[in-house]
Amino acid sequence: MNISNVVVIGAGAMGNGIAHVFATAGFRVSLVDISEEALAKGLANISKNMDRQVAKGSMTEDQKQVAISCIHSSTDLASAASAADLIVEAATENEELKKKIFKQIDASAPANCILATNTSSISITRLAAVTSRPGKVIGMHFMNPVPVMKLVEIILGYQTEKEVGQAVEELSRTLGKIPLTVKDFPGFIANRILMPMINEAICALHEGVGGVEEIDQIMKLGMAHPMGPLQLADFIGLDVCLSIMNVLHSGFGNPKYFPSPLLQNMVSAGNLGAKSGQGFYTYTPGSKELIVAPYFK
Ligand code: NAD
Repeated sequence: MNISNVVVIGAGAMGNGIAHVFATAGFRVSLVDISEEALAKGLANISKNMDRQVAKGSMTEDQKQVAISCIHSSTDLASAASAADLIVEAATENEELKKKIFKQIDASAPANCILATNTSSISITRLAAVTSRPGKVIGMHFMNPVPVMKLVEIILGYQTEKEVGQAVEELSRTLGKIPLTVKDFPGFIANRILMPMINEAICALHEGVGGVEEIDQIMKLGMAHPMGPLQLADFIGLDVCLSIMNVLHSGFGNPKYFPSPLLQNMVSAGNLGAKSGQGFYTYTPGSKELIVAPYFK
């Protein structure tokens, strides 16, 4: 399969990282969002993250300029999709929204175009079922931050063609990533294991077994995790964590996946972690200091 034109849908935390790695590897990228503001922010983030690579010596200023020139931003999904060889959907984690997007891109993209989703947990098979090409729909789950993390978890839906799986594995290697392929069950592998751990940490905090610092430090110092589960939840976004727990809970019908009431309250209150400035910690732009949020002191 010849892939040179890539459309990335959603310019948020993941979408701009995905556009970054494709452009760095020389693909032509259309970054599409419904919000002009999100596009401007996404492009600024890409430039800032590439500056970091230039400062570290892993990219030259010229390579940065070439990569940036490969990225075009747009709010016109139908037009971008019409010339795509591969579309990677990285919009908000919401099944109805993703189904709507998959119907739209199925209608506009060439018949051979692969439709991939970066979903953290939503069924690839159900997204594929709203299209006329379920064999060409696949999960391409990048990790956050995309330019740094090596893994791409590839998820084969019930009807995904073998050749499509192989092409996406090969493509991931071209991006300098390591692909690992799994089947389509709720949460796949990464989040089926990670999210219950995060949820359990939030339950332990809610029950008062330990404070924010104790819980995070125990997992860092005792299990050699680079980041504690509460800090990681803030980094991922508490709304994303809650959506994934809801998918695990409804997908398996097992009460062990019930999302912590504290997590639900925090999301209802708009405390979504680093992106909103408040989660288990308080975030100040430009500061890397970890300060426990006032609610947990
Ligand atoms: P985000 O909230 O940062 O960004 C989502 C973007 O999608 C926003 O800019 C929004 O304007 C845009 N959007 C919404 N509807 C759209 C539409 N119809 N067309 C085009 N753009 C639209 O979210 P995120 O954290 O980047 O997550 C995106 C996806 O990646 C989700 O499926 C999430 O589960 C998955 N994911 C997230 C992480 C993480 O750590 N945040 C890790 C792996 C996978």
